[in-house]
Amino acid sequence: TAPAHSQQPAKPDYNPISTGSSSAARVNATFVTLARNGDLWDLVQSIRSVEDRFNRNYNYDWVFLNDVDFDDEFKTLTTALVSGKTHYGKIPKEHWSYPDFIDQKKAQEAREEMGRKKIIYGDSESYRHMCRYESGFFFRHELMQQYEFYWRVEPSIELFCDLPFDPFRFMKENDKKYSFVISLQEYIETIPTLWDSVRKFMTEHPEHLAEGNALKFVSDDGGVTFNKCHFWSNFEIGNLEWLRGKEYMAFFESLDQDGGFFYERWGDAPVHSIAASLLLKKEQIHFFDEIAYFHVPFTHCPTTESMRLDLRCTCKPQDNFDWRGYSCTSRWFEINNMPKPPGAEDQG
Ligand code: GDP
Ligand code: MN
Repeated sequence: TAPAHSQQPAKPDYNPISTGSSSAARVNATFVTLARNGDLWDLVQSIRSVEDRFNRNYNYDWVFLNDVDFDDEFKTLTTALVSGKTHYGKIPKEHWSYPDFIDQKKAQEAREEMGRKKIIYGDSESYRHMCRYESGFFFRHELMQQYEFYWRVEPSIELFCDLPFDPFRFMKENDKKYSFVISLQEYIETIPTLWDSVRKFMTEHPEHLAEGNALKFVSDDGGVTFNKCHFWSNFEIGNLEWLRGKEYMAFFESLDQDGGFFYERWGDAPVHSIAASLLLKKEQIHFFDEIAYFHVPFTHCPTTESMRLDLRCTCKPQDNFDWRGYSCTSRWFEINNMPKPPGAEDQG
């Protein structure tokens, strides 16, 4: 028993999720990676990690998308590494260019100004097309149409633990639509007017807001202001039908019209996160503690030691970002009345 002064909440040891490990009951799902040919060598490392820790037992497909054609070296090597079928798609020009309502001169001035202010990717045109594509288009690519769930993988990521169950199947069986492993506060200079656009959408389309949503995750004052919390979208497992549905599409179209993908530098992470927090019931968003993950510069490493040992994790617990100041995962636990694991409160 813990001494009386202990602040540790009572929490049982790690109980593995059981969804069976049979690959016979696969879900209609795919990995998806947006990449340039030049990303190949950073990407192969990600693919090995995902295959070793999970997909070699399941053989899910992998879709690769690019704004130009993939070269043969890229296709040959990634096909050799992926245990499932691979598909390579070129993004249609209309999905990676300026819509006609965008003033391109104004967009260019915005890039120059944000470049002068040294805002990360502030001067980049391609990064803006990428963020807009991930926000509003990847799930509509013809290669993605046949699937129900996706898992987004970027170059240079790492998985640190064995995945003892199929997260796609977990999502399907539990009616989850969106999931995350790392959350944090957004760099506000990239999205100064994003919340104004969101508020306009909420006023114009109250019918699309879900009852029992996770508004509290993204706003501390009932929707007046954005608290900058978002799920980090370089990792996502999500439901494609949700993204293709009328609520999300109305949300994206409304934001897109306001121009902030080009006049500011809106990221797909806050866009997906705010959408999930407003348009889904909060139970439909899932935190995958078991998926230990790295994308520079942050790590999610499970706090519970027995979980790390059971899953043969190789992450360093001290690197875990979950309970640090700029993470929003504490907030996620609090708004869901989820007990934090022992050790969660000790980290600065
Ligand atoms: P960061 O994680 O925000 O630093 O951005 P990344 O450079 O990792 O880009 C996010 C994702 O988009 C990665 O999967 C990249 O491979 C991909 N990406 C970024 N820019 C481009 C681009 O211009 N063309 C293509 N095809 N993919 C891109
Ligand atoms: Mn990245």
